[in-house]
Amino acid sequence: MDIPRGILALMDPLSVYIHIPFCKSRCGYCDFNTYAGVEYLIDAYASAVCRELTFLSQNAPEDIPIKTIFFGGGTPSIVPEKYFEQIFDTIFRFYRIIDEAEISLEANPWPLTYLYLKRLRQLGFNRISIGMQSAIRSELRLLDRRHDFCDVSNAVEWSRRAGFENLNLDLIFGLPGQKVRDWMESLQLAVGFQPEHLSLYALTIEEGTVLGGQISKGLLPSPDEDIAAEIYEWTMEYLASEFTQYEISNWAHSMPDNSSPFCNHNLQYWHNQPYLGFGAGAHGWFDHKRLVNVLTPVDYIRAIGTHKKVHFPHTPATTEINLIDIETEMQETMMLGLRLTQEGVKSENFYTRFGKEMEVVFEKEISDLCSLGLLEWSPGRKSLRLSYRGRFLGNQVFLRFV
Ligand code: SF4
Repeated sequence: MDIPRGILALMDPLSVYIHIPFCKSRCGYCDFNTYAGVEYLIDAYASAVCRELTFLSQNAPEDIPIKTIFFGGGTPSIVPEKYFEQIFDTIFRFYRIIDEAEISLEANPWPLTYLYLKRLRQLGFNRISIGMQSAIRSELRLLDRRHDFCDVSNAVEWSRRAGFENLNLDLIFGLPGQKVRDWMESLQLAVGFQPEHLSLYALTIEEGTVLGGQISKGLLPSPDEDIAAEIYEWTMEYLASEFTQYEISNWAHSMPDNSSPFCNHNLQYWHNQPYLGFGAGAHGWFDHKRLVNVLTPVDYIRAIGTHKKVHFPHTPATTEINLIDIETEMQETMMLGLRLTQEGVKSENFYTRFGKEMEVVFEKEISDLCSLGLLEWSPGRKSLRLSYRGRFLGNQVFLRFV
């Protein structure tokens, strides 16, 4: 019997992303969908998110099981706790949250307080991701970050005291003029905090940002790709004894019980599995559709207030719906899965999902990239993954699959 594919997807627990598009100020390198100086909208925005969550659940053909919830931004940690309480009340009322669900908050080190973190932990957050970025004052200034290393130290200590046992630190490397030894110092200090997880991203210069403008006017040098590669290589070696690199930019601490605190929410993306997005500009991927919400907080609040009649998985805030055909889904599965440096794309999973062998569908791409030494098969050809060399040239590898 054929089961409709949408319903099949519904049987597996999903991930939920909730976008919080508010920041205290804009950082010079950031092109995210976020706004400074409009915190007065938070109250109406939180109510709109609750309405969107309620709307979707009430239109769903069955209970929606949730395995991860991620509040990203923007800066979710500037939202007063009462609004998280309101959103959690809605989620726990209308969705089936599975036991051991991962519930993450992105936080900036400043402004934070112990009492705030404790309250969030009590509400149900069990993972915190702190935007440290660097330990070097001049680098933080270059990035327009408003915190310093002392704020990071307090944020980590308070998070631990508040009961967060799963803590990530975000750092950025490859800054204009960055010295390798400064990166080493930042990373060594970050490791000293004993985080369960590290996300270490190479800076990309985005058009339209303040930093992008300074570079194009010649006021700052462009990031040096050779130095970024040297930093990345040193980082992989430095972390190898204590951490598992499971994704191009992500490391999980090796735990005594052999468990690995991977970010389950991001794994859902990298496995190209369905997720629902709520809030301004949020994206979702469900039932072979990519859904995009209206961009600005004001338009979002307005759209949610219209009570427009739409069908699951759309909500009144959905502004774009792109049908993803099977070819595109296969390409995206390769591009995302190959980010997973250990696991790669598993042959069996690919076949179960698409009814075709990955090495037949992408015969030429795989053979070319293997001969260039950028991809490799795991023993027994169980999965295809980036080689060590391929990790430095990930974007070139992924582009071959589009
Ligand atoms: S705090 Fe984060 S989201 Fe906000 S502007 Fe800075 S980098 Fe962007």
